[in-house]
Amino acid sequence: MYRTFSRVLGLALLTSCVVSCSKNEVAPSVTPAAVTQSADATRDNHLTMGNPSGATANSANYWNYLVSKSQFAMSYHRDRGTPNWVSWHLSSAWLGSTPRQDNFAPDNTLPTGWYRVSSTSYTGSGFDRGHNCPSADRTGSVADNSATFLMTNMIPQAPNNNQRTWANLENYCRTLVNAGNELYIICGSYGKGGTGSNGYATTLDAGRVTVPAQVWKVIVVLPEGTSDAARVTTGTRVIAINTPNDNGLLTTWGSYRTTVDAIEAATGYDILSAVSASVQSVVEARVDNGPTS
Ligand code: MN
Ligand code: MN
Repeated sequence: MYRTFSRVLGLALLTSCVVSCSKNEVAPSVTPAAVTQSADATRDNHLTMGNPSGATANSANYWNYLVSKSQFAMSYHRDRGTPNWVSWHLSSAWLGSTPRQDNFAPDNTLPTGWYRVSSTSYTGSGFDRGHNCPSADRTGSVADNSATFLMTNMIPQAPNNNQRTWANLENYCRTLVNAGNELYIICGSYGKGGTGSNGYATTLDAGRVTVPAQVWKVIVVLPEGTSDAARVTTGTRVIAINTPNDNGLLTTWGSYRTTVDAIEAATGYDILSAVSASVQSVVEARVDNGPTS
């Protein structure tokens, strides 16, 4: 719709220019790049690159329960009180001007009888309510942004990890989107025990929420387009990082780059399983060395 409008507008400007512009004037750019990019960007399936742990929406599998929302998809672990991983598509089609809602809330879509982590479960723990899918990646509407504040999207994250290292990487991801890319991001955590601003802890909320030891992320970077899984080649940039959930970590996310293979070995998942095996074997064995800002 934007594009059609731009074309009509461009034609009108061109027509009026032919009639009235002097020889030395330059006609205005018909289609600004930003508008073209917004018109082409789509909201794609969050599991386009695969379902790393084969999660299903069967409550018997309480350790690997698929929660599928329009804003992201995840595998949730009832007894850890956290997601195992959250996967989401990021393109400019997800980005708007909705402000951060800060409306942390329990996720009432969990199966009946399951403990629902609340907005106050982390209070006084020395750990942040760390988003997996960031608030700033879902600014298209109040509903989209509010979904990121559901407690199923949170992990107890060391404040310096959340607010510095992680925030820097999240900002860089949106820089890549602004440059004309779409991303598939899978964020997860594993292990038990981290060090927040009050020191080491293994659980909080009377044992109902596990503090993870490691927090990881895998990012697939593609120029805007369609048929995304099939477009991943051995040359596609895939960024993998794995950080300790420790307040003493470095602020530079690039220092924590690793391979997808190493994360798969640590978690038992098959990440990017929708990509051909021959391409996975190359991109998953490589450590990214691209720019970090
Ligand atoms: Mn796409
Ligand atoms: Mn894989």
